[in-house]
Amino acid sequence: MNRIYLDHAATTPVRPEVAERFAELLASAYGNPSSIHGTGRDARRILDESRTVIARSIGAEPNEIIFTGGGTESDNLAIFGTAAARKDEGRHIITSNVEHHGVMNAVRKLETEGFSVTWLPVDQNGSVSPEDVRAALRDDTILVTIMTGNNEVGTIQPIGEIGKILKGHRATFHTDAVQAYGEIPLDVDRLGVDLLSASAHKINGPKGTGFLYQRSGTKLSPSSAGGEQERKRRAGTENVPAIAAFARAAEIAGETMEERSEEYGMFKRLFASAFMGEGIEFRINAAEAETLPHILNISFPGTDIEQLLVNLDLEGIAVSSGSACTAGSIDPSHVLVAMYGEGAPELRNSVRFSFGYGLEGKDIRDAAAATAAVVRRLTRLQKGENNDSN
Ligand SMILES: *Cc1c(COP(=O)(O)O)cnc(C)c1O
Repeated sequence: MNRIYLDHAATTPVRPEVAERFAELLASAYGNPSSIHGTGRDARRILDESRTVIARSIGAEPNEIIFTGGGTESDNLAIFGTAAARKDEGRHIITSNVEHHGVMNAVRKLETEGFSVTWLPVDQNGSVSPEDVRAALRDDTILVTIMTGNNEVGTIQPIGEIGKILKGHRATFHTDAVQAYGEIPLDVDRLGVDLLSASAHKINGPKGTGFLYQRSGTKLSPSSAGGEQERKRRAGTENVPAIAAFARAAEIAGETMEERSEEYGMFKRLFASAFMGEGIEFRINAAEAETLPHILNISFPGTDIEQLLVNLDLEGIAVSSGSACTAGSIDPSHVLVAMYGEGAPELRNSVRFSFGYGLEGKDIRDAAAATAAVVRRLTRLQKGENNDSN
């Protein structure tokens, strides 16, 4: 069966150029970058070059990049590292109701440890209001953490505006940019952020590698104890081949960003026109917000998410409900709950299509036609018309 992978927000295939770089260095660049001999220095040089490439991709300095084991670890380091470093200055944190679990569960943990947390609501399009951030600020606020682009519905948050508001406040500003990095231009000064998380496997790089940007002078305690790697901020021998592959993926993402954005825009239009042409009832979630180019989240009234996912999978179409399913059952997405409220039908009938490397217009047309057929079948079942004999 010809499979069509439309779940690039969950993870992406590794690009051939990136895999090539990874394989080459896995064999050759085995040195420990902390060793003083030539083999170590070779690895150090590759690490330094990669750091420069990554730093440049967000307008940062190389010494502001901490390589980590992925997006979740970067989020955890940002949140726990800030809390540990600044807990004597205050114990208030501001975040939103639509964060990734890497942020949400870290903040929840701090909440159980005595930190006070303001969970900001979002509107029907998943947007956080900068004015809500301003209103929530207190003298003891030490951390504001708001994601750049939502991984489920794609909403791009007004990070630059929030950054301006925070200019006059001493709180550390962190953004989880894992889903946005490589998809839209990001510049840490324009955004006004102090900490920014990204992950390699969301941009056609290897899994288990990411970075945290830390603006010079921003207080952060290391979350692991060990050696003095990454300027004592993240202990453990660096994964040089994976980091170099990440840098290669970041370069390609930067070079292809504009054309991909246009292409994904066309994919979105292809989907919408196919559903309209087939007379399928659908509603695009976060339709009025500015969204990430590669994410399209659609609600199909009269369908059920579990049936949708199973039937689309049978057609070879890989999509997602946004939230991962745990132990085979799908929890309602906290993002959709935040947008629509508990019990809203969208919680049970929304599907995320996410685009990326390797997809062509034909795949999208095929996927849209197959989705339309599945939705038609499911809504007919729902209405009890399955026994029609004509
Ligand atoms: C995927 C994702 C993460 C987690 O990154 P990992 O590298 O898988 O740990 C964090 N935040 C967002 C917004 C994501 O999309």
